Amino acid sequence: MPPVPKPSSERYDVIVIGGGSGAMGMSRRAAQYGKKVCVIEEDGRLGGTCVNVGCVPKKLMWHAADMAEALRAGPEYGLGTKDGKPLNAEPGFQWNYFAEKRDAYVRRLNGIYDRNLQNDKVEYISGHAKLTGKDEVEITLRAEDGSLTGGTHKIQGDHICIATGGRPVIPSDKDVPGASLGITSDGFFDLREQPKRVAVVGAGYIAVELAGVFNTLGTETHLLIRQDQFLRNFDPIIHETLQEYMGNTGLNVHKKTNVKKVTGSKGGPLTLELDTGKTLEVDCLLWAVGRRPNTDNLGLEAAGVKTDDKGNIVVDKFQQTNVQNITSLGDVAGKALLTPVAIAAGRRLSNRLYGPEDVRGKDFLDYENIPTVVFSHPTSGTVGLTEPEAKEKFGEDQVKIYKSRFTAMYFGMLEHKQPSAYKLVCVGKEEKVVGIHIIGLGSDEIMQGFGVAVKMGATKKDLDSTVAIHPTSAEELVTMR
Ligand code: FAD
Ligand code: NDP
Repeated sequence: MPPVPKPSSERYDVIVIGGGSGAMGMSRRAAQYGKKVCVIEEDGRLGGTCVNVGCVPKKLMWHAADMAEALRAGPEYGLGTKDGKPLNAEPGFQWNYFAEKRDAYVRRLNGIYDRNLQNDKVEYISGHAKLTGKDEVEITLRAEDGSLTGGTHKIQGDHICIATGGRPVIPSDKDVPGASLGITSDGFFDLREQPKRVAVVGAGYIAVELAGVFNTLGTETHLLIRQDQFLRNFDPIIHETLQEYMGNTGLNVHKKTNVKKVTGSKGGPLTLELDTGKTLEVDCLLWAVGRRPNTDNLGLEAAGVKTDDKGNIVVDKFQQTNVQNITSLGDVAGKALLTPVAIAAGRRLSNRLYGPEDVRGKDFLDYENIPTVVFSHPTSGTVGLTEPEAKEKFGEDQVKIYKSRFTAMYFGMLEHKQPSAYKLVCVGKEEKVVGIHIIGLGSDEIMQGFGVAVKMGATKKDLDSTVAIHPTSAEELVTMR
Protein backbone atom coordinates (compact mmCIF):
# COMPACT_ATOMS: atom_id res chain seq x y z
CA MET A 1 0.00 0.00 0.00
CA PRO A 2 1.38 3.44 -0.85
CA PRO A 3 1.55 6.10 1.87
CA VAL A 4 -1.50 8.25 2.56
CA PRO A 5 -1.52 11.49 0.48
CA LYS A 6 -1.80 13.49 3.70
CA PRO A 7 -2.35 12.75 7.40
CA SER A 8 -5.87 11.50 8.07
CA SER A 9 -5.98 13.15 11.47
CA GLU A 10 -4.80 16.20 13.38
CA ARG A 11 -3.82 14.18 16.43
CA TYR A 12 -2.31 10.72 17.05
CA ASP A 13 -1.53 8.74 20.16
CA VAL A 14 1.95 8.09 18.79
CA ILE A 15 3.94 9.82 16.05
CA VAL A 16 7.05 7.92 14.97
CA ILE A 17 9.64 9.84 12.95
CA GLY A 18 11.54 7.51 10.61
CA GLY A 19 10.51 4.35 8.79
CA GLY A 20 13.47 2.06 9.53
CA SER A 21 14.08 -0.86 11.87
CA GLY A 22 13.43 0.97 15.14
CA ALA A 23 10.33 2.74 13.85
CA MET A 24 8.86 -0.55 12.66
CA GLY A 25 9.40 -2.17 16.06
CA MET A 26 7.91 0.73 18.02
CA SER A 27 5.00 1.68 15.75
CA ARG A 28 3.63 -1.77 15.00
CA ARG A 29 3.77 -2.89 18.63
CA ALA A 30 2.03 0.33 19.77
CA ALA A 31 -0.68 -0.17 17.15
CA GLN A 32 -1.09 -3.79 18.22
CA TYR A 33 -1.89 -2.39 21.69
CA GLY A 34 -4.72 -0.37 20.10
CA LYS A 35 -3.00 3.00 19.76
CA LYS A 36 -3.53 5.36 16.85
CA VAL A 37 -0.08 5.52 15.29
CA CYS A 38 1.55 7.16 12.28
CA VAL A 39 5.02 6.70 10.83
CA ILE A 40 6.66 9.50 8.84
CA GLU A 41 9.46 8.48 6.45
CA GLU A 42 11.23 10.90 4.13
CA ASP A 43 13.09 8.47 1.88
CA GLY A 44 10.13 7.48 -0.29
CA ARG A 45 10.40 3.83 0.79
CA LEU A 46 10.17 2.01 4.09
CA GLY A 47 12.82 -0.16 5.72
CA GLY A 48 15.51 2.43 6.46
CA THR A 49 19.22 1.75 6.29
CA CYS A 50 19.05 -1.98 6.96
CA VAL A 51 16.70 -2.85 4.13
CA ASN A 52 17.78 -0.30 1.54
CA VAL A 53 21.50 0.39 2.00
CA GLY A 54 22.64 -1.84 4.83
CA CYS A 55 22.27 -5.36 6.19
CA VAL A 56 20.08 -6.77 3.44
CA PRO A 57 21.84 -5.73 0.20
CA LYS A 58 25.20 -6.15 1.98
CA LYS A 59 24.41 -9.73 2.98
CA LEU A 60 23.36 -10.53 -0.58
CA MET A 61 26.70 -9.20 -1.84
CA TRP A 62 28.42 -11.30 0.83
CA HIS A 63 26.54 -14.38 -0.42
CA ALA A 64 27.72 -13.67 -3.97
CA ALA A 65 31.31 -13.46 -2.76
CA ASP A 66 30.89 -16.58 -0.64
CA MET A 67 29.57 -18.46 -3.66
CA ALA A 68 32.55 -17.33 -5.74
CA GLU A 69 34.82 -18.86 -3.09
CA ALA A 70 32.88 -22.12 -3.20
CA LEU A 71 33.10 -22.20 -6.99
CA ARG A 72 36.86 -21.76 -6.81
CA ALA A 73 37.02 -24.72 -4.44
CA GLY A 74 34.65 -26.86 -6.54
CA PRO A 75 37.25 -28.62 -8.71
CA GLU A 76 39.13 -29.81 -5.62
CA TYR A 77 35.94 -31.52 -4.51
CA GLY A 78 35.75 -33.25 -7.86
CA LEU A 79 33.06 -30.96 -9.20
CA GLY A 80 33.04 -30.31 -12.92
CA THR A 81 30.65 -30.26 -15.83
CA LYS A 82 28.45 -33.34 -16.43
CA ASP A 83 30.72 -34.51 -19.23
CA GLY A 84 33.70 -34.56 -16.90
CA LYS A 85 35.36 -31.26 -17.85
CA PRO A 86 36.68 -29.03 -15.06
CA LEU A 87 34.66 -25.96 -14.06
CA ASN A 88 36.19 -22.64 -14.93
CA ALA A 89 38.57 -22.18 -11.97
CA GLU A 90 38.07 -18.40 -11.78
CA PRO A 91 34.38 -17.49 -11.83
CA GLY A 92 33.38 -14.18 -13.41
CA PHE A 93 30.82 -11.98 -11.68
CA GLN A 94 28.14 -10.05 -13.57
CA TRP A 95 27.94 -7.14 -11.15
CA ASN A 96 25.12 -5.30 -12.89
CA TYR A 97 22.98 -8.42 -13.38
CA PHE A 98 23.31 -9.21 -9.69
CA ALA A 99 22.77 -5.60 -8.57
CA GLU A 100 19.46 -5.43 -10.49
CA LYS A 101 18.25 -8.69 -8.92
CA ARG A 102 19.39 -7.53 -5.48
CA ASP A 103 17.54 -4.23 -5.87
CA ALA A 104 14.38 -6.03 -6.99
CA TYR A 105 14.59 -8.14 -3.83
CA VAL A 106 14.92 -4.96 -1.75
CA ARG A 107 11.87 -3.46 -3.51
CA ARG A 108 9.92 -6.59 -2.62
CA LEU A 109 10.87 -6.06 1.01
CA ASN A 110 9.75 -2.41 0.78
CA GLY A 111 6.35 -3.70 -0.31
CA ILE A 112 6.23 -6.18 2.56
CA TYR A 113 6.99 -3.35 5.00
CA ASP A 114 4.15 -1.29 3.49
CA ARG A 115 1.77 -4.21 3.98
CA ASN A 116 2.96 -4.89 7.52
CA LEU A 117 2.11 -1.32 8.51
CA GLN A 118 -1.23 -1.58 6.79
CA ASN A 119 -2.06 -4.88 8.51
CA ASP A 120 -1.25 -3.36 11.89
CA LYS A 121 -3.21 -0.19 10.99
CA VAL A 122 -0.23 2.12 11.27
CA GLU A 123 -0.65 5.15 9.00
CA TYR A 124 2.34 5.66 6.70
CA ILE A 125 3.03 9.26 5.73
CA SER A 126 5.74 10.03 3.18
CA GLY A 127 7.61 13.23 3.95
CA HIS A 128 10.18 15.02 6.07
CA ALA A 129 9.26 15.47 9.73
CA LYS A 130 10.38 18.29 11.95
CA LEU A 131 9.44 18.98 15.56
CA THR A 132 7.79 22.35 16.04
CA GLY A 133 7.04 21.87 19.72
CA LYS A 134 7.02 19.24 22.44
CA ASP A 135 3.96 17.53 20.98
CA GLU A 136 3.83 18.88 17.45
CA VAL A 137 5.42 17.79 14.18
CA GLU A 138 5.48 19.61 10.87
CA ILE A 139 5.55 17.35 7.82
CA THR A 140 6.80 18.45 4.42
CA LEU A 141 4.88 16.01 2.28
CA ARG A 142 6.23 14.11 -0.70
CA ALA A 143 4.64 15.32 -3.93
CA GLU A 144 3.44 13.01 -6.72
CA ASP A 145 6.64 13.66 -8.69
CA GLY A 146 8.60 12.19 -5.74
CA SER A 147 10.08 15.47 -4.52
CA LEU A 148 9.56 16.84 -1.02
CA THR A 149 7.40 19.72 -2.27
CA GLY A 150 3.93 18.45 -1.42
CA GLY A 151 3.20 21.24 1.05
CA THR A 152 3.43 21.27 4.81
CA HIS A 153 1.03 19.85 7.35
CA LYS A 154 1.10 19.96 11.16
CA ILE A 155 0.01 17.12 13.42
CA GLN A 156 0.04 16.62 17.17
CA GLY A 157 0.90 13.55 19.19
CA ASP A 158 0.54 12.44 22.81
CA HIS A 159 3.84 10.69 22.29
CA ILE A 160 6.61 11.27 19.76
CA CYS A 161 9.34 8.72 19.08
CA ILE A 162 12.43 9.79 17.12
CA ALA A 163 13.97 6.94 15.13
CA THR A 164 15.71 8.82 12.33
CA GLY A 165 18.85 6.65 12.11
CA GLY A 166 22.12 7.93 10.73
CA ARG A 167 24.15 8.39 7.59
CA PRO A 168 27.75 7.82 6.51
CA VAL A 169 30.33 10.53 7.09
CA ILE A 170 32.90 11.61 4.54
CA PRO A 171 35.85 13.93 5.25
CA SER A 172 35.34 17.49 4.02
CA ASP A 173 37.16 18.66 0.89
CA LYS A 174 38.80 21.22 3.17
CA ASP A 175 40.38 18.49 5.30
CA VAL A 176 41.11 16.12 2.41
CA PRO A 177 41.02 17.92 -0.95
CA GLY A 178 39.03 15.83 -3.42
CA ALA A 179 37.46 13.65 -0.70
CA SER A 180 34.02 14.13 -2.27
CA LEU A 181 35.22 12.22 -5.35
CA GLY A 182 34.81 9.13 -3.20
CA ILE A 183 31.64 7.25 -2.36
CA THR A 184 30.28 5.76 0.88
CA SER A 185 28.46 2.51 1.62
CA ASP A 186 25.33 4.16 0.15
CA GLY A 187 27.20 4.67 -3.13
CA PHE A 188 28.47 1.09 -3.02
CA PHE A 189 24.91 -0.08 -3.63
CA ASP A 190 24.58 2.32 -6.58
CA LEU A 191 27.59 0.81 -8.38
CA ARG A 192 26.52 -0.83 -11.65
CA GLU A 193 29.95 -2.06 -12.65
CA GLN A 194 32.60 -3.84 -10.67
CA PRO A 195 35.55 -1.50 -10.16
CA LYS A 196 38.85 -3.07 -11.18
CA ARG A 197 40.75 -1.32 -8.39
CA VAL A 198 39.28 0.07 -5.19
CA ALA A 199 40.54 1.81 -2.06
CA VAL A 200 38.41 1.43 1.06
CA VAL A 201 39.25 3.80 3.91
CA GLY A 202 38.21 2.82 7.44
CA ALA A 203 38.66 0.12 10.02
CA GLY A 204 35.19 -0.82 11.26
CA TYR A 205 32.47 -3.24 10.25
CA ILE A 206 31.65 -1.57 6.95
CA ALA A 207 35.24 -1.16 5.74
CA VAL A 208 36.07 -4.78 6.49
CA GLU A 209 32.84 -6.19 5.06
CA LEU A 210 32.89 -4.22 1.81
CA ALA A 211 36.64 -4.66 1.29
CA GLY A 212 36.01 -8.39 1.80
CA VAL A 213 33.30 -8.46 -0.87
CA PHE A 214 35.42 -6.56 -3.40
CA ASN A 215 38.49 -8.65 -2.71
CA THR A 216 36.67 -11.97 -2.86
CA LEU A 217 34.93 -11.03 -6.11
CA GLY A 218 38.26 -10.23 -7.73
CA THR A 219 38.66 -6.45 -7.47
CA GLU A 220 42.18 -5.27 -6.64
CA THR A 221 41.38 -4.03 -3.13
CA HIS A 222 43.32 -1.67 -0.90
CA LEU A 223 42.18 -1.20 2.69
CA LEU A 224 43.61 1.96 4.21
CA ILE A 225 43.65 1.99 8.01
CA ARG A 226 45.07 4.74 10.17
CA GLN A 227 46.31 2.39 12.92
CA ASP A 228 47.99 -1.04 12.81
CA GLN A 229 44.81 -3.09 13.09
CA PHE A 230 41.26 -3.00 11.82
CA LEU A 231 38.31 -3.98 14.05
CA ARG A 232 40.42 -2.80 16.99
CA ASN A 233 37.50 -2.94 19.43
CA PHE A 234 37.01 -6.64 18.80
CA ASP A 235 38.89 -9.33 20.71
CA PRO A 236 42.48 -9.74 19.41
CA ILE A 237 41.75 -13.31 18.33
CA ILE A 238 39.34 -11.89 15.75
CA HIS A 239 41.23 -8.91 14.41
CA GLU A 240 44.63 -10.63 14.40
CA THR A 241 43.36 -13.80 12.70
CA LEU A 242 41.26 -11.92 10.16
CA GLN A 243 43.85 -9.32 9.24
CA GLU A 244 46.54 -11.93 8.69
CA TYR A 245 44.22 -14.15 6.64
CA MET A 246 42.77 -11.35 4.50
CA GLY A 247 46.32 -10.17 3.80
CA ASN A 248 47.10 -13.67 2.51
CA THR A 249 44.13 -13.61 0.15
CA GLY A 250 45.43 -10.64 -1.81
CA LEU A 251 43.83 -7.80 0.17
CA ASN A 252 46.34 -4.96 0.41
CA VAL A 253 46.15 -3.60 3.95
CA HIS A 254 47.93 -0.24 4.21
CA LYS A 255 48.63 0.30 7.90
CA LYS A 256 49.11 3.73 9.49
CA THR A 257 47.93 5.35 6.28
CA ASN A 258 45.74 8.38 5.69
CA VAL A 259 44.58 9.91 2.44
CA LYS A 260 45.97 13.43 2.01
CA LYS A 261 44.51 14.37 -1.35
CA VAL A 262 42.38 12.89 -4.13
CA THR A 263 42.53 13.93 -7.77
CA GLY A 264 40.68 12.67 -10.82
CA SER A 265 37.02 12.69 -11.73
CA LYS A 266 33.93 11.12 -10.20
CA GLY A 267 33.42 7.68 -11.68
CA GLY A 268 36.84 7.82 -13.36
CA PRO A 269 40.30 6.80 -12.24
CA LEU A 270 41.45 8.53 -9.07
CA THR A 271 44.89 9.22 -7.71
CA LEU A 272 45.22 9.11 -3.93
CA GLU A 273 48.08 10.93 -2.30
CA LEU A 274 48.85 9.16 0.96
CA ASP A 275 50.58 10.53 4.04
CA THR A 276 53.13 7.75 3.75
CA GLY A 277 54.50 9.52 0.67
CA LYS A 278 53.05 6.89 -1.69
CA THR A 279 50.36 7.39 -4.32
CA LEU A 280 47.64 4.93 -5.22
CA GLU A 281 45.71 4.71 -8.52
CA VAL A 282 42.19 3.33 -8.17
CA ASP A 283 38.86 3.34 -10.01
CA CYS A 284 36.80 3.81 -6.87
CA LEU A 285 37.42 5.29 -3.44
CA LEU A 286 35.04 4.22 -0.67
CA TRP A 287 34.96 6.03 2.65
CA ALA A 288 33.87 3.84 5.58
CA VAL A 289 35.00 6.04 8.44
CA GLY A 290 31.86 5.98 10.55
CA ARG A 291 28.33 7.32 10.65
CA ARG A 292 26.57 10.31 12.18
CA PRO A 293 23.06 10.62 13.58
CA ASN A 294 20.26 12.23 11.55
CA THR A 295 19.51 15.00 14.02
CA ASP A 296 19.85 18.07 11.87
CA ASN A 297 16.77 19.80 10.45
CA LEU A 298 14.71 17.81 12.94
CA GLY A 299 13.61 20.72 15.14
CA LEU A 300 15.19 19.28 18.28
CA GLU A 301 15.76 22.80 19.62
CA ALA A 302 12.08 23.68 19.22
CA ALA A 303 11.17 20.76 21.45
CA GLY A 304 14.17 21.17 23.76
CA VAL A 305 15.54 17.65 23.11
CA LYS A 306 19.16 17.26 24.25
CA THR A 307 21.94 15.75 22.14
CA ASP A 308 25.49 14.80 23.10
CA ASP A 309 28.69 16.19 21.57
CA LYS A 310 28.38 13.79 18.61
CA GLY A 311 24.78 14.81 17.90
CA ASN A 312 23.29 11.58 19.27
CA ILE A 313 20.00 12.01 21.10
CA VAL A 314 20.55 11.49 24.82
CA VAL A 315 18.25 8.84 26.29
CA ASP A 316 18.07 6.86 29.52
CA LYS A 317 17.70 3.08 29.70
CA PHE A 318 13.98 3.46 28.93
CA GLN A 319 14.79 5.31 25.65
CA GLN A 320 13.44 8.44 27.35
CA THR A 321 14.83 11.83 26.26
CA ASN A 322 14.92 14.82 28.59
CA VAL A 323 11.44 15.80 27.27
CA GLN A 324 8.68 13.87 28.97
CA ASN A 325 6.61 12.67 26.00
CA ILE A 326 9.53 12.26 23.55
CA THR A 327 11.55 9.06 23.27
CA SER A 328 14.27 8.05 20.84
CA LEU A 329 15.91 4.80 19.75
CA GLY A 330 18.06 3.08 17.18
CA ASP A 331 21.12 4.57 15.52
CA VAL A 332 20.11 8.16 16.26
CA ALA A 333 20.57 7.41 19.97
CA GLY A 334 24.14 6.28 19.20
CA LYS A 335 24.37 2.99 21.11
CA ALA A 336 24.95 -0.43 19.49
CA LEU A 337 24.12 0.53 15.91
CA LEU A 338 22.48 -2.74 14.91
CA THR A 339 19.11 -3.54 13.39
CA PRO A 340 17.93 -6.06 15.99
CA VAL A 341 18.87 -3.57 18.71
CA ALA A 342 16.69 -0.87 17.13
CA ILE A 343 13.78 -3.29 16.66
CA ALA A 344 14.02 -4.70 20.18
CA ALA A 345 14.32 -1.23 21.74
CA GLY A 346 11.22 -0.14 19.79
CA ARG A 347 9.10 -3.11 20.81
CA ARG A 348 10.11 -2.85 24.44
CA LEU A 349 9.39 0.84 24.47
CA SER A 350 5.83 0.18 23.31
CA ASN A 351 5.54 -2.60 25.88
CA ARG A 352 6.59 -0.15 28.57
CA LEU A 353 4.23 2.59 27.44
CA TYR A 354 1.16 0.62 26.38
CA GLY A 355 1.69 -3.06 27.20
CA PRO A 356 -0.03 -5.37 29.68
CA GLU A 357 0.57 -5.15 33.41
CA ASP A 358 3.61 -7.42 33.54
CA VAL A 359 5.63 -5.10 31.25
CA ARG A 360 3.92 -1.69 31.50
CA GLY A 361 6.17 0.89 33.12
CA LYS A 362 9.02 -1.62 33.30
CA ASP A 363 10.20 -3.05 30.00
CA PHE A 364 13.48 -1.84 28.51
CA LEU A 365 16.26 -3.22 26.35
CA ASP A 366 19.30 -4.48 28.20
CA TYR A 367 22.29 -3.42 26.08
CA GLU A 368 24.64 -5.96 27.72
CA ASN A 369 25.77 -9.08 25.93
CA ILE A 370 24.43 -8.20 22.51
CA PRO A 371 25.78 -10.76 20.04
CA THR A 372 27.00 -9.42 16.72
CA VAL A 373 28.64 -10.70 13.57
CA VAL A 374 31.01 -9.15 11.04
CA PHE A 375 30.29 -10.54 7.59
CA SER A 376 33.94 -10.80 6.74
CA HIS A 377 35.56 -13.65 4.80
CA PRO A 378 35.47 -15.77 6.92
CA THR A 379 32.76 -14.43 9.22
CA SER A 380 33.45 -13.42 12.82
CA GLY A 381 31.06 -13.44 15.78
CA THR A 382 31.29 -11.93 19.20
CA VAL A 383 29.31 -11.56 22.40
CA GLY A 384 30.22 -10.07 25.75
CA LEU A 385 33.58 -8.85 26.99
CA THR A 386 36.83 -9.14 25.09
CA GLU A 387 39.84 -10.58 26.93
CA PRO A 388 41.36 -7.11 27.57
CA GLU A 389 37.98 -5.76 28.75
CA ALA A 390 37.45 -8.69 31.14
CA LYS A 391 40.96 -8.35 32.59
CA GLU A 392 40.43 -4.63 33.07
CA LYS A 393 37.06 -5.19 34.74
CA PHE A 394 37.76 -8.23 36.94
CA GLY A 395 41.56 -8.27 37.28
CA GLU A 396 43.98 -10.57 35.41
CA ASP A 397 43.95 -13.31 38.07
CA GLN A 398 40.17 -13.66 37.87
CA VAL A 399 40.09 -14.30 34.12
CA LYS A 400 40.66 -17.69 32.51
CA ILE A 401 40.96 -17.91 28.74
CA TYR A 402 40.27 -20.97 26.59
CA LYS A 403 41.43 -20.87 22.99
CA SER A 404 41.31 -23.14 20.01
CA ARG A 405 42.71 -22.73 16.50
CA PHE A 406 41.76 -25.26 13.87
CA THR A 407 40.86 -25.84 10.24
CA ALA A 408 37.21 -26.55 9.57
CA MET A 409 36.70 -29.94 7.95
CA TYR A 410 35.37 -28.25 4.79
CA PHE A 411 38.87 -26.92 4.15
CA GLY A 412 40.66 -30.09 5.19
CA MET A 413 40.91 -31.37 1.62
CA LEU A 414 41.44 -27.98 0.02
CA GLU A 415 44.73 -26.41 -0.81
CA HIS A 416 43.50 -22.97 0.16
CA LYS A 417 42.42 -23.09 3.81
CA GLN A 418 40.56 -20.53 5.88
CA PRO A 419 41.43 -20.37 9.57
CA SER A 420 39.06 -20.87 12.49
CA ALA A 421 39.91 -19.47 15.91
CA TYR A 422 37.70 -19.51 19.01
CA LYS A 423 38.07 -17.94 22.43
CA LEU A 424 36.09 -18.24 25.66
CA VAL A 425 36.58 -15.56 28.28
CA CYS A 426 35.68 -16.94 31.70
CA VAL A 427 35.63 -15.25 35.09
CA GLY A 428 35.91 -16.31 38.73
CA LYS A 429 35.95 -19.68 40.44
CA GLU A 430 32.82 -20.85 38.71
CA GLU A 431 34.24 -19.77 35.32
CA LYS A 432 31.25 -17.78 34.21
CA VAL A 433 31.49 -17.22 30.46
CA VAL A 434 31.54 -13.44 29.99
CA GLY A 435 32.73 -13.40 26.39
CA ILE A 436 32.80 -15.63 23.31
CA HIS A 437 34.75 -14.62 20.21
CA ILE A 438 34.84 -16.78 17.12
CA ILE A 439 36.11 -16.49 13.58
CA GLY A 440 35.87 -19.07 10.84
CA LEU A 441 33.44 -20.83 8.54
CA GLY A 442 29.87 -20.57 9.83
CA SER A 443 30.61 -18.19 12.71
CA ASP A 444 27.65 -16.03 11.67
CA GLU A 445 25.17 -18.85 12.22
CA ILE A 446 26.94 -20.36 15.25
CA MET A 447 26.93 -17.16 17.27
CA GLN A 448 23.21 -16.77 17.92
CA GLY A 449 22.84 -19.85 20.11
CA PHE A 450 25.97 -19.09 22.10
CA GLY A 451 24.60 -15.56 22.55
CA VAL A 452 21.67 -17.16 24.38
CA ALA A 453 24.05 -19.15 26.58
CA VAL A 454 26.01 -16.04 27.63
CA LYS A 455 22.81 -14.08 28.22
CA MET A 456 21.60 -16.88 30.50
CA GLY A 457 24.83 -16.73 32.50
CA ALA A 458 26.38 -20.00 31.29
CA THR A 459 29.53 -21.27 32.97
CA LYS A 460 32.35 -23.22 31.35
CA LYS A 461 30.92 -26.28 33.11
CA ASP A 462 27.57 -25.76 31.36
CA LEU A 463 29.33 -25.72 27.99
CA ASP A 464 31.34 -28.82 28.94
CA SER A 465 28.19 -30.66 29.98
CA THR A 466 26.60 -30.06 26.58
CA VAL A 467 27.13 -32.95 24.19
CA ALA A 468 28.93 -31.90 21.03
CA ILE A 469 27.42 -32.05 17.55
CA HIS A 470 29.88 -33.83 15.32
CA PRO A 471 31.36 -33.08 12.84
CA THR A 472 30.93 -29.31 13.10
CA SER A 473 33.08 -26.31 13.93
CA ALA A 474 30.75 -25.29 16.76
CA GLU A 475 31.60 -28.43 18.73
CA GLU A 476 34.96 -26.83 19.56
CA LEU A 477 33.11 -24.45 21.88
CA VAL A 478 31.87 -27.28 24.10
CA THR A 479 35.07 -29.32 24.07
CA MET A 480 37.73 -26.73 24.97
CA ARG A 481 40.41 -27.58 27.51
P1 FAD B 1 17.36 3.59 10.00
O1 FAD B 1 17.15 2.21 9.58
O2 FAD B 1 18.50 4.34 9.39
O3 FAD B 1 15.99 4.37 9.73
C1 FAD B 1 15.87 5.75 9.91
C2 FAD B 1 14.91 6.27 8.86
O4 FAD B 1 14.52 7.61 9.23
C3 FAD B 1 15.53 6.39 7.48
O5 FAD B 1 14.76 5.64 6.56
C4 FAD B 1 15.48 7.89 7.16
O6 FAD B 1 15.18 8.15 5.80
C5 FAD B 1 14.36 8.37 8.05
N1 FAD B 1 14.47 9.78 8.44
C6 FAD B 1 15.58 10.43 8.88
N2 FAD B 1 15.26 11.71 9.20
C7 FAD B 1 13.93 11.84 8.94
C8 FAD B 1 13.02 12.93 9.09
N3 FAD B 1 13.41 14.10 9.60
N4 FAD B 1 11.74 12.74 8.70
C9 FAD B 1 11.32 11.54 8.22
N5 FAD B 1 12.14 10.48 8.08
C10 FAD B 1 13.42 10.63 8.46
N6 FAD B 1 23.10 -4.00 11.34
C11 FAD B 1 22.98 -5.32 11.63
O7 FAD B 1 22.39 -5.66 12.67
N7 FAD B 1 23.49 -6.29 10.81
C12 FAD B 1 24.12 -5.97 9.66
O8 FAD B 1 24.56 -6.86 8.93
C13 FAD B 1 24.26 -4.60 9.31
N8 FAD B 1 24.87 -4.26 8.17
C14 FAD B 1 24.96 -2.94 7.83
C15 FAD B 1 25.60 -2.60 6.65
C16 FAD B 1 25.72 -1.28 6.28
C17 FAD B 1 26.41 -0.94 4.99
C18 FAD B 1 25.17 -0.27 7.12
C19 FAD B 1 25.26 1.18 6.71
C20 FAD B 1 24.54 -0.58 8.31
C21 FAD B 1 24.43 -1.93 8.68
N9 FAD B 1 23.82 -2.31 9.88
C22 FAD B 1 23.72 -3.63 10.20
C23 FAD B 1 23.27 -1.29 10.81
C24 FAD B 1 21.75 -1.15 10.66
O9 FAD B 1 21.43 -0.92 9.31
C25 FAD B 1 21.24 0.00 11.52
O10 FAD B 1 21.68 -0.20 12.84
C26 FAD B 1 19.72 0.09 11.52
O11 FAD B 1 19.21 0.26 10.22
C27 FAD B 1 19.26 1.25 12.41
O12 FAD B 1 17.87 1.35 12.38
P2 FAD B 1 17.17 2.74 12.75
O13 FAD B 1 15.70 2.50 12.73
O14 FAD B 1 17.77 3.32 13.96
O15 FAD B 1 17.56 3.74 11.57
P1 NDP C 1 32.55 2.15 12.79
O1 NDP C 1 32.36 3.25 13.74
O2 NDP C 1 32.26 0.78 13.21
O3 NDP C 1 34.03 2.14 12.21
C1 NDP C 1 34.64 3.21 11.60
C2 NDP C 1 36.12 3.10 11.90
O4 NDP C 1 36.84 3.78 10.91
C3 NDP C 1 36.49 3.73 13.21
O5 NDP C 1 36.30 2.82 14.25
C4 NDP C 1 37.94 4.13 13.00
O6 NDP C 1 38.78 3.04 13.35
C5 NDP C 1 38.02 4.33 11.50
N1 NDP C 1 38.08 5.76 11.17
C6 NDP C 1 37.35 6.76 11.69
N2 NDP C 1 37.69 7.93 11.13
C7 NDP C 1 38.65 7.66 10.23
C8 NDP C 1 39.38 8.45 9.32
N3 NDP C 1 39.21 9.77 9.25
N4 NDP C 1 40.29 7.84 8.53
C9 NDP C 1 40.48 6.51 8.60
N5 NDP C 1 39.81 5.71 9.44
C10 NDP C 1 38.90 6.28 10.24
O7 NDP C 1 31.69 2.60 11.54
P2 NDP C 1 31.14 1.85 10.30
O8 NDP C 1 30.79 2.95 9.39
O9 NDP C 1 32.03 0.77 9.83
O10 NDP C 1 29.82 1.15 10.83
C11 NDP C 1 28.84 1.87 11.58
C12 NDP C 1 28.07 0.93 12.43
O11 NDP C 1 27.13 0.21 11.65
C13 NDP C 1 28.90 -0.17 13.10
O12 NDP C 1 29.50 0.29 14.27
C14 NDP C 1 27.90 -1.24 13.34
O13 NDP C 1 27.28 -1.03 14.58
C15 NDP C 1 26.92 -1.07 12.20
N6 NDP C 1 27.18 -2.11 11.21
C16 NDP C 1 26.95 -3.41 11.56
C17 NDP C 1 27.23 -4.43 10.71
C18 NDP C 1 26.97 -5.83 11.14
O14 NDP C 1 26.25 -6.03 12.10
N7 NDP C 1 27.53 -6.82 10.47
C19 NDP C 1 27.76 -4.18 9.39
C20 NDP C 1 27.95 -2.79 9.09
C21 NDP C 1 27.67 -1.81 9.99
P3 NDP C 1 40.25 3.33 14.02
O15 NDP C 1 40.00 4.21 15.18
O16 NDP C 1 40.73 1.96 14.38
O17 NDP C 1 41.05 3.98 12.94
